[in-house]
Amino acid sequence: MNRTANLSHLQTELFDICVIGGGASGAGCALDAASRGLKTALIERDDFSSATSSSSTKLVHGGVRYLEQAFKNLDPKQLSMVRKGLYERQTLLHIAPHLAHPLALLTPCKNWFAGMYFSIGLKLYDLLAGNRRLAPSRWLNKKEALHHFPAFSSSSFQSAVLYYDGQFDDARFNLGLVQTAALQGATVANHCSAVRFETNANGHIQAVLVRDELTGDTFWLRAKVFVNATGTRADSLRQTANAKQPDRMRASKGAHVVLPMDAVGPTLAALLVPETSDGRVLFAIPWRGHYLIRTTDTEADPAETPYLEPDEAEYLIEHVNQYLAKPLTVDQVTGGFAGLRPLLQADPDARSKSLVRDHEVEVDEKTGLVSLMGGKWTTYRLMAQDTIDVCGQRLGVHTESKTDELILLGGDGYGPTFIDSLTARHPTVNLQTIKHLTETYGTQATALLTLMEQDSTLAEPLVNRHPFVKAEVVYAARAEMALTLEDLLLRRIRLGLVDWQAALSAAPSAAALLGAELGWSSAHQQEQQDSFISLIQRHIDRAGLSSTRKESTVSA
Ligand SMILES: Cc1cc2nc3c(=O)[nH]c(=O)nc-3n(C[C@H](O)[C@H](O)[C@H](O)COP(=O)(O)OP(=O)(O)OC[C@H]3O[C@@H](n4cnc5c(N)ncnc54)[C@H](O)[C@@H]3O)c2cc1C
Repeated sequence: MNRTANLSHLQTELFDICVIGGGASGAGCALDAASRGLKTALIERDDFSSATSSSSTKLVHGGVRYLEQAFKNLDPKQLSMVRKGLYERQTLLHIAPHLAHPLALLTPCKNWFAGMYFSIGLKLYDLLAGNRRLAPSRWLNKKEALHHFPAFSSSSFQSAVLYYDGQFDDARFNLGLVQTAALQGATVANHCSAVRFETNANGHIQAVLVRDELTGDTFWLRAKVFVNATGTRADSLRQTANAKQPDRMRASKGAHVVLPMDAVGPTLAALLVPETSDGRVLFAIPWRGHYLIRTTDTEADPAETPYLEPDEAEYLIEHVNQYLAKPLTVDQVTGGFAGLRPLLQADPDARSKSLVRDHEVEVDEKTGLVSLMGGKWTTYRLMAQDTIDVCGQRLGVHTESKTDELILLGGDGYGPTFIDSLTARHPTVNLQTIKHLTETYGTQATALLTLMEQDSTLAEPLVNRHPFVKAEVVYAARAEMALTLEDLLLRRIRLGLVDWQAALSAAPSAAALLGAELGWSSAHQQEQQDSFISLIQRHIDRAGLSSTRKESTVSA
């Protein structure tokens, strides 16, 4: 993915489809369109997945909660959403086996009735998944539950129900979509905003003014159809095209705290509490050597930049402690993040909790703008397929989506035998590093190992107590379109999400390596370093956490 070459392409070609927004929805649309043979452009204002799509809870799920609501409200639409989500869950695991895998979740039950209730509900979930079920759910007694989640306080539950969903790395999956779209012929560029549209004599959009956010340069990009996939900002672009469009989006904020794995201890399962003492859903999920803890969402302004706030950190720790034998404290938190969920507004008076989280593809007949709104990460592929079907109709071409069988870059040929063969071919590289590289890059890990062979300094750790190596910085610049220190340390390498202090420690050497690859001047390198440090410091300050906190250690 060469951004300089892509920028010149974007200015000279006439595209069939231009997708605006490089989160899960937009990257999914770009891949769907390019793999159907359509001439496709993708522009993203900031970095790929820099908004909601890198801040999810990283679950690939049909939605157990929606299943409960479907039965409570006798709502077939919600039931169909769960069924579609379960179908997509299996598809995501299939197309990116290096980034998505099954996850066991444990639901504690206070009494026999609750055990029976969740057991029946989760059997229905299994049933709806049909042959796409991951593994059967089971009702466990206290001893079995403690075996799966040893940190449980045994007085906090009577039994537990074990079931399965998927888990993934959202930002790296998003990047995999973009890279695979590029391999299929899409022209992609991050740090490029859609500013305004130009229309033809019929009032239909024929070009978008794009601003390169790194240089301030602007240019016109021409296409036959424009797709608005800007998440919570969808109304803003809809109204840029047509000021008469009513608001359709609402935002709902969810925040996560991150703790090192050893704060809670090793586990075979995540914890899902369906109803806390104040009636919310709570998750404690092992992810990349850490725990992510999150609860249900609160209403927010779509234009705000969300941060983990002190009351949220305290709330999460206080509520998860009700289920743990050894209580956690806020000062064990090493990182955190928050995101805004793009909710589609069906009824302007409805509260966010009662909104159905489905998606809609809207065509503004006046301007021809196609807007993809709502949905969730798990169903991005289906949302993209629906959107590109609509675009195909507008273009007058009939094409079929291929994305349910299209393996993402790094996923082809990935599996246990691949890891074994890498270990045999690179006996001097420690197993932990090979495991980390394959679980992050899939079969592309070979390219990183080659870099490490060519230059042994690139095999050095980027920072203490974390599995990242310096070769990842070089690879991110050469193959993954990382253009800023923030792109690198928040989304290509997920250090800035899980461990703020370690990210601060890594910043100088990461900036030097990235700067050397991208040809930065020493002043620009310093600027990048300062700007990243102040971003991380802002996260720490907004969360109310002292900057003197110690770094986390990743357990295998
Ligand atoms: C806290 C939280 C937890 C979640 N957990 C899960 C989960 O576990 N599983 C799940 O399935 N779903 C989950 N979701 C939902 C899921 O993350 C979102 O539905 C999904 O990421 C939305 O993707 P998107 O591409 O529509 O929006 P975004 O990711 O927000 O992407 C929109 C992009 O458009 C860009 N953009 C905006 N304006 C312009 C412009 N003018 N020009 C160019 N680009 C522009 C933005 O920079 C942004 O990158 C969660 C959501 C939240 C908030």
